Amino acid sequence: MIKVETILAHGTVIAMDDAFTLITDGAVAMDGDSIVALGPAAEILRDYTAAAVVDCHDCAIMPGLINSHTHVPMTLLRGLADDLRLDVWLMGYMMPVEREFVTPEFVRVGTLLGCAEMIRSGVTTFADMYYFEDAIAEATAQAGLRAVLAQTVLKFPTPDADSYEDAIEYCRKFIEKWKGHALIVPAVGPHAHYTCPPEVLEACVTLATEYNVPLHTHVSETALEVEDSRKQHGMPVVPWIRRHGLLETQLIAAHCVHVDSGEILTLQHAGAGVVHNPSSNLKLASGVAPVGEMIAANVKLGLGTDGTASNNDLDMFEEMRLASFIAKGISHDPLAVPAKTTLMLATIGGARAVHLDHLTGSLEVGKRADVVVVNLTGLHNTPRFARDPELVYSQLVYACKSSDVRDVWCNGQAVMRDWDVLTVDIPTVMEQAQAIAVQIDRFLMTREGNLLDKLIAIGGIAQEESYEVQVKVAVEDAAQVDRVLQQAPIRVERSSVRRQYDTYFLFADPTQGRIRYREDELLNKAGAVTESRYSLTFTEPAKEREFEQSVLLSRSRFTARADRSLRFYREYFRPVNEREVNKERRRYHILYKETEFAINVDQVTTPNLPGWYMEIKSRTWSPRDADKKAALISELLALLKVDPRGVTRTEYVEI
Ligand SMILES: [Zn+2]
Repeated sequence: MIKVETILAHGTVIAMDDAFTLITDGAVAMDGDSIVALGPAAEILRDYTAAAVVDCHDCAIMPGLINSHTHVPMTLLRGLADDLRLDVWLMGYMMPVEREFVTPEFVRVGTLLGCAEMIRSGVTTFADMYYFEDAIAEATAQAGLRAVLAQTVLKFPTPDADSYEDAIEYCRKFIEKWKGHALIVPAVGPHAHYTCPPEVLEACVTLATEYNVPLHTHVSETALEVEDSRKQHGMPVVPWIRRHGLLETQLIAAHCVHVDSGEILTLQHAGAGVVHNPSSNLKLASGVAPVGEMIAANVKLGLGTDGTASNNDLDMFEEMRLASFIAKGISHDPLAVPAKTTLMLATIGGARAVHLDHLTGSLEVGKRADVVVVNLTGLHNTPRFARDPELVYSQLVYACKSSDVRDVWCNGQAVMRDWDVLTVDIPTVMEQAQAIAVQIDRFLMTREGNLLDKLIAIGGIAQEESYEVQVKVAVEDAAQVDRVLQQAPIRVERSSVRRQYDTYFLFADPTQGRIRYREDELLNKAGAVTESRYSLTFTEPAKEREFEQSVLLSRSRFTARADRSLRFYREYFRPVNEREVNKERRRYHILYKETEFAINVDQVTTPNLPGWYMEIKSRTWSPRDADKKAALISELLALLKVDPRGVTRTEYVEI
């Protein structure tokens, strides 16, 4: 008799090895961190003796599941903002909240919460990508789970790095600290090819190669991403990342929703791991990865939940069921991705995808003891048929719930016994998570109540607050204005002709101000567009002061280059109303009595307004300066022979 620590006996052993070994009334012997033996219970109990013999009657004994792509601390952002498009969700909500809240303590709490949830759903290994990965590693090791943890690298500042160089440095230290750990495999995580320019991608590849660690990134998640890649690089995403060396690393490519047959072969040939995230891809309406084709091509394919902010849980049983059903649904083929294949994706397939199949993913002698016991006696599991042992696969994938997972061992250590998680203090972690949620709620409530805060939250805005003295007046003859401007004492410094398409976002409470999205086309003499600019302007409603002839010291404005689409801003700001104002504008920059003014002569085409309007404006910075400029504007109006009765205080959007 050989002495071992633990024997799991009298369950259905589902090995998920190459032969798909299935043993009804089987047993698994574990000692230290490894599996020592498996076989019929009678034989194992004959040859081995253990301090703990765990009765597994009416249970499945199978490899721990592998969640091959997630962002585990995002459990703390679960349910924060839903039913949004990927860019609005990511740039409008996730990233601003992350910039404000993500600290080592935040990721510690989020990781413990996520690990507890994963343990309960039978996960023993996960692949992560987030910030402060060192704190994630500490918490993961405490929870007793195996993980490939990728430190995120991005071109812009993140919660843990001011630049990508800092992120690479952090990553290097992180790798040096954790390499060789029994549970943790450190990795490099360039977020995606569209957030990491070539030099950043290449720095990540160099680092991953130097330490021989995996490289985890997002690939071809949305159709738009692929379209942009074709436009910018003249090729889809996989050839682009190949050009920058990513396929020469131990690559973990999350998503690959929009890849063609050639790209699938390239990924297979390179031995890249690919991770299918059906819930996340469906929830964000990104599409469905060509899983059937990838399986046929023998790609190293795993399954993942992605972060809980886009799922919204870490339940791998749900992920399995969905992966199988969606593949059948879109292919109109009920034979597509059967239960056994699906369980493979969640176990040994995932182990291959995250480059850990030498350690985990199947029950084999010598592999690490990452084992779960699933109770099969629940109401939803009744009845069971015994004539074909293989029916257990469909039972596990189509009927079982994560709550059927009874026991979990990872690396030989029991992390859950009889539904009791042993390594995480769940009530304390839940309390800490709720306390953070209260703070995030407070932050977002303040932001949502203030347009300017909301604008600043998405970044990129230069806080260019400016005050202007200005007047607007209807003019009958634009040519006349043009003639006067060409004469002394006025000097035109420069002038341009443009076509401006403005969309105003209006809100229920007008004192909030409004937002203008402008497409500004610069025209040459022949009337052809030579340049287009996009800007976003926030205007506060308060009129600070009024001078004679309705010359106003205007509202403060904040203007930024609009680097996202009108659609993005619409979905982000959610105005109650929108108004369009289009016009052709002649713009003059003039000097009058050593003072600069901008003069706009506008013909408004939408709405269709008769005649022209002229605006005279000048930036100002002090009350005395404003007084002086207001007086000069009155003089200019006289010089331009404008009928003062035509002066209007309304903006185009209000006309
Ligand atoms: Zn992801």
